[in-house]
Amino acid sequence: MRRWTRLALRAYHLHCAREDARVRHLVVPLGVWVCEHCRHVSLNLHSFNSHRADAHA
Ligand SMILES: [Zn+2]
Repeated sequence: MRRWTRLALRAYHLHCAREDARVRHLVVPLGVWVCEHCRHVSLNLHSFNSHRADAHA
């Protein structure tokens, strides 16, 4: 269950990053997470989670 949740969250954020890039005509490589709160960009899930924990706890 936890594994599924992580995978779903990852897919969700990847989808959002790609959609965001598409509407802004930017190219976002796979494996980039964009914070939905402040548009901070993380290159891996660990730094993404760290950013959210630090900035949006
Ligand atoms: Zn943020």
